[in-house]
Amino acid sequence: MSSSPITPYATTCCIVGGGPAGLMLGYLLARAGIDVTVLEKHADFLRDFRGDTIHPSTLEVMHQLGLLDELLTLPHQRAESLHAEVAGRDIKLADFTRLPTRCKFIAFMPQWEFLNFLAQQAAAFPNFRLLTSTQVHQLLYDRGQVCGVLADTPEGPIRVRSQLVIGTDGRNSVVREQAALSSRSFGAPRDVLWMKLSKQPGDPAWSMGHTGPKQNFIMIDRGDYWQCGYSIDKGSFDAIRHSGLEKFLLHLAEVAPFQDDRLQEIVEWDQVKLLSIRIDRLDRWAKPGVLCIGDAAHAM
Ligand SMILES: Cc1cc2nc3c(=O)[nH]c(=O)nc-3n(C[C@H](O)[C@H](O)[C@H](O)COP(=O)(O)OP(=O)(O)OC[C@H]3O[C@@H](n4cnc5c(N)ncnc54)[C@H](O)[C@@H]3O)c2cc1C
Repeated sequence: MSSSPITPYATTCCIVGGGPAGLMLGYLLARAGIDVTVLEKHADFLRDFRGDTIHPSTLEVMHQLGLLDELLTLPHQRAESLHAEVAGRDIKLADFTRLPTRCKFIAFMPQWEFLNFLAQQAAAFPNFRLLTSTQVHQLLYDRGQVCGVLADTPEGPIRVRSQLVIGTDGRNSVVREQAALSSRSFGAPRDVLWMKLSKQPGDPAWSMGHTGPKQNFIMIDRGDYWQCGYSIDKGSFDAIRHSGLEKFLLHLAEVAPFQDDRLQEIVEWDQVKLLSIRIDRLDRWAKPGVLCIGDAAHAM
């Protein structure tokens, strides 16, 4: 922690974490006229392969808020159905065209585009503030009730006083931990490795899954590239890395419907992002002065 003087700051509602949960809530509260401040530890929203799917129910909410048409002017791809190969047969896993919603598709959009959009919409309200590069590390208490947070900023620490602290700081939530909210884990047997491969003329219109004979390989059409996922046994990524990139790529070549040269685009492990799948849920989401929502309350 820095030894600079602590800057005092006051807001009615302090939201910790500028992910989808934090920014959507910030927007809604600001729109309702409440003084709200979102604290985000990163300087921007640029994170790869994070919740890039915007589901029909979320698009319906955006429609109800009057934001849908503008949102859909941002670059995105649409999936009206999801397919997978099961026992060598192409199976339609989901058909969104029959949903009673305005948008009968999943929109694939980089999460940072969605977050920038929400932040811009919220910034139109004078009672909304977003403090980036601001990392919360402690809850403040007054007579047993949470009354704010301590955070570090590039200019030094700040003490944020607020009537309510809302933890939307994701699956490794500091707010959840500091508030001593207990959670139950439901376990998950698999993890997913995400990678980008180029899209080339002549590629078939694969959507989810692929039409080859193999399992565990996922492909999502992202316009000018393929987002590829490979499902592995939980916790096995370290061992896979240890065996070497070359061996991993040889294995991928057996399950991916690409020629080997496409896989040669992966030249270092930094291009392979681990999604450690977790399913857990808080027993109680709130205590006096504090509430957790989003992945901080229920990672899935
Ligand atoms: C690698 C990966 C891939 C995923 N892919 C998909 C997908 O394809 N489809 C899908 O639907 N979901 C996906 N998910 C899940 C999805 O991203 C989450 O469910 C969703 O982002 C949760 O939103 P949230 O706002 O609750 O938390 P998060 O998105 O995790 O946001 C938390 C925010 O809090 C900030 N923060 C954390 N700690 C602090 C602190 N101490 N102080 C200040 N700020 C803090 C973080 O920087 C972050 O911006 C993926 C998740 C991961 C990790």
